[in-house]
Amino acid sequence: MSTQRFYSVCPHDCPDTCGVLTEVEDGRAVAFRADPGHPVTGGWLCAKVNPYLGHVYHPDRLQHPLRRAGPKGGGRWERIGWDEAVAEIARRWRSIIDEHGAAAILPYSYSGTLGLVQMAVASSRFWNRLGASRLLRSICGAAAERAVQATLGARRSPPYGHVLDSRLVIIWGHNPVSTAPHFMPLLRAAQRKGTRIVLRIEDNGPGVATDDLARIVEPFEQLGRDPANISSGGGLGLPLVKALAELQGGTLSLESAPGEGFTAILDMPAA
Ligand code: SF4
Repeated sequence: MSTQRFYSVCPHDCPDTCGVLTEVEDGRAVAFRADPGHPVTGGWLCAKVNPYLGHVYHPDRLQHPLRRAGPKGGGRWERIGWDEAVAEIARRWRSIIDEHGAAAILPYSYSGTLGLVQMAVASSRFWNRLGASRLLRSICGAAAERAVQATLGARRSPPYGHVLDSRLVIIWGHNPVSTAPHFMPLLRAAQRKGTRIVLRIEDNGPGVATDDLARIVEPFEQLGRDPANISSGGGLGLPLVKALAELQGGTLSLESAPGEGFTAILDMPAA
């Protein structure tokens, strides 16, 4: 039996853009792993994507259209055919267009796991042809994109490897362990070279009274307090973060006041 190999990229909206390799036998994928030749991927995929074969062939995966039977939230669905599903969607869209015009249809979608072709090419052509309203896209990141553009003049992202030439790295509102894991080995390498790393976390919640700032990093200080008075900082596990930072020779400092949000700044020296 011959094995076909397909090289592609992970479809997630993730800056790592990992290269993946899929092996197919008799029309069925039998292996899925990191593309060993991809420079950023480095031979490993994250925990979300590594088990993709299991997702694709899972018996509970949705594989055919379902139509809700009964009230919303009732959890009752009936299986229908593809032709019937497409005909019903087209019928409802035609009725909206006849009554209100095509602009009354708003395609609400962005990246997620769509990949570039679905996200930016195929869908745009379809919606443009239909005359539907246009979404700015980037439902979750538009504000951040504007802020970066206003601050830096452009939305440019340097190659990961440039961090090795940085003397100070500020990670602002971002957790690369979770959302850019292939950046982490480079970050650690930069730290070993002598780069200082500052992690700044902010929220715009109700804030914490100045007197409470010192107390919320004391272990177990929340015990026995009225839950209504427990500040949000304690929920971030700040006592643990502070202890770990100090073990590594770093510091955790907090800034807040009632009505002024909360900022935690973790300053770690070179490793
Ligand atoms: S780290 Fe995970 S989600 Fe990100 S590109 Fe790689 S495999 Fe995809």
